[in-house]
Amino acid sequence: MRKKLVVGNWKMHGNRAANADLLAGIVSAGPLPCDAAVCVPFVYVADTAVSLAASSLRWGAQDVSAHEQGAYTGEVSAAMLRELGCRYAIVGHSERRAYHGESDALVADKAKIALGHGITPIVCVGETLEQREAGQTEAVVKRQLSAVIHALAHCAGEMVVAYEPVWAIGTGRTASPEQAQAVHAVLRAQLRAATAQADSMKILYGGSVKPDNAAQLLAQADIDGGLIGGAALKAADFVAICRAAT
Ligand code: PEP
Repeated sequence: MRKKLVVGNWKMHGNRAANADLLAGIVSAGPLPCDAAVCVPFVYVADTAVSLAASSLRWGAQDVSAHEQGAYTGEVSAAMLRELGCRYAIVGHSERRAYHGESDALVADKAKIALGHGITPIVCVGETLEQREAGQTEAVVKRQLSAVIHALAHCAGEMVVAYEPVWAIGTGRTASPEQAQAVHAVLRAQLRAATAQADSMKILYGGSVKPDNAAQLLAQADIDGGLIGGAALKAADFVAICRAAT
């Protein structure tokens, strides 16, 4: 049985005082029944590393450069993140694909460099509403995942995949458990064709997961946890989602 993983994506929210309260609220809730992590803005990585040094709550970044080092103004490398103890890096979030023009190839490069530095990439895939309505969901997510599978080759089994339908992110509109499970099953089958580790890999669902819908979503056979945006900004909600994951 795969242990569930719940990851908070803070996006561009927070400040030092609010972050400290949020982390203290999660940690003070006591042991969580699943693996859990928070992905914080780069500028708060160092604070978070110190705050969580003695905690089982892990932390990650929301992006990583596709380059090792060099003249890439504004970028943060996998080596820099790893030096501070980073465990996860979200790559290919739909907001980065949409607002920063990130291609499947770039996302694959980012996943590869993260893994090369011991950081588990959380690879986001998902269709827009237009693509869903055009019956393209399966083709879109398979294309997005395929680029990463090829780049990671024999290490493909080490990534975490997150299915995040774009129309469900931050909209309050969630995929039904059945809709989400159907896409997760497609992704699992694609992973099985690529790696012997597919059945132990985690495929997270993301898109307006809240305490009141988490249990049903996370009970699906191929949903191994959640990537949580808005609800990860309240300690009580994040903890409630983690508790619903069992
Ligand atoms: C996300 O940003 O990855 C996300 C799923 O956001 P929300 O939970 O707010 O829809």
